[in-house]
Amino acid sequence: MNIYVFTIFPEMFEGPLNTSILKKAREKKILNIELIDFRPYSPSKHKNVDDAPFGGGAGMVLKPDPIYLALEDKLGDLVTYPGQILLMSPQGVQFNQELAKELAKEQSLVFICGHYEGFDERVRALAHKEISIGDYVLTGGELPAMVIIDAVSRLIPGVLGESESVVSDSFYDGLLEYPHYTRPRSFRGMNVPDVLLSGNHEKIRLWRRKESLRRTLERRPELLEKVNLTKEDLKLLAEIANEEKGTNG
Ligand code: SAM
Repeated sequence: MNIYVFTIFPEMFEGPLNTSILKKAREKKILNIELIDFRPYSPSKHKNVDDAPFGGGAGMVLKPDPIYLALEDKLGDLVTYPGQILLMSPQGVQFNQELAKELAKEQSLVFICGHYEGFDERVRALAHKEISIGDYVLTGGELPAMVIIDAVSRLIPGVLGESESVVSDSFYDGLLEYPHYTRPRSFRGMNVPDVLLSGNHEKIRLWRRKESLRRTLERRPELLEKVNLTKEDLKLLAEIANEEKGTNG
């Protein structure tokens, strides 16, 4: 996948994009990430990228021209550009695992990172999608872009090693993931559940599915409404309900 990030702070990306799984994916050329500083594209003498808002008010607004010129220079004709152009914005659709899966199918993704009070409204015309990473306001679009790049990248075949899997991750199939244990078997009085030591793969699969359902029911019950529950899931949920009745009297 080709990823282009348009930002006035490319140095912010150095740590996250050059560490661990993303670093390896770049080395393997599964991910090609280009960071583009749009400041040099400013037509003004002092390379200003922001200006005071018309109508007055606090803060500075990113000018449209440096952003348009940078995108046109790197991507060519924006009308026919085949990738997804994404504007980082607290006013956008909320990012989630579904959207991550959708974006992971693209050949290329383009991120535009805002700063200061945000963008001149005309920058919005460039984007195919505005994406927010949550209902809070950050100082810039760089952290949101990094969050999205990270979540999308791990869904691209070959990015994770064979020993790592995304299919049991929380949200992948709409549920939270089951609990994990590793050595030692007993730690400060807390023991690994016997079933995980049994070597019986079917029992382990069922236990994991049940704990995944239990965890989702306890922590994020609204997620269950969107999942296509199988007959087996309904049976496991009934067992959980009976167990709860047993514990609560
Ligand atoms: N004044 C803007 C508003 O109220 O919508 C917020 C501007 S914010 C300080 C500066 C930039 O950070 C935004 O243009 C956007 O690129 C980015 N940003 C801030 N919070 C974000 C969020 N929750 N999700 C995605 N991008 C965000």
